[in-house]
Amino acid sequence: MSAPTAAQAMVAATARLRAAGVPDPARDARILLAHAASVDAARVTLIAPEEIAPDIAERFEKLVSLRAVRVPVSHLVGQRAFYGRDFKVSRDVLDPRPETESLIELALSEPFERVLDLGTGSGCILVTLLAEQPEACGVGLDLSEAACLQASANAVLHGVQARAEIRQSNWFSAAEGRFDLIVSNPPYLAKSEMNDVSPEVRLHEPEMALTDGQDGLSVYRIIAAQAQGFLTPTGRVLAEFGWQQGPDVKAIFEAAGWGRVRILPDLGGRDRVVWADTPA
Ligand code: GLN
Repeated sequence: MSAPTAAQAMVAATARLRAAGVPDPARDARILLAHAASVDAARVTLIAPEEIAPDIAERFEKLVSLRAVRVPVSHLVGQRAFYGRDFKVSRDVLDPRPETESLIELALSEPFERVLDLGTGSGCILVTLLAEQPEACGVGLDLSEAACLQASANAVLHGVQARAEIRQSNWFSAAEGRFDLIVSNPPYLAKSEMNDVSPEVRLHEPEMALTDGQDGLSVYRIIAAQAQGFLTPTGRVLAEFGWQQGPDVKAIFEAAGWGRVRILPDLGGRDRVVWADTPA
């Protein structure tokens, strides 16, 4: 009996992933086969009619088994695309998510020279901003030492390490000096919402990056209360939040005395980012 073709292997894997409840099984089977065969995902069609080599079949089988127990594709291939760049990811950091690209667009809509990223995680926000703004420098802070290492690796990968300082910190505790931009994608799920997230997120992403263990708003209280002490007079804060938290986040910043607080949507039209500053 001859070996199955790559196309047949993908069909079998798709059925298996579908049975395991994986949301987009055909797409994942294709990406994992590409990874097993070390070809670009766009080139899988070219190898599909060919018999699958034994070593590739074995690698593919392992990857599909892991995906069937809901290990995220990003962890299996080791990276995730964000704002046009690939970032190294692992279970130590939150996976970069497309909604966070809205925060990037807003950050880049006005110039900045010195940026602080609170809870930098993979470093995807800080590294993207520095890569897009070659004159800028920045600091990324994270409580997790493993996250700091991951962010540093991503800074090197994208050639911004000379302009990026990554440090372990409990929110502002290790912050020094003034910044004209402070950004953050803090943990904003309420403890009670952790039951509703997908197995990929719940079992494979760091809980400390997802929830504050409370009402999901505690980090906005910290940022609203302390950020003005680390901003230049014309500086601004941009922070992502959950799409139903807009009114609460706005109220927190207004109560903390910010001159202007705007709630802005993501590309899907949902409230997603708070922009707070104090114009002269
Ligand atoms: N958007 C993420 C999720 O729904 C939450 C990320 C965060 O808390 N910053 O899984």
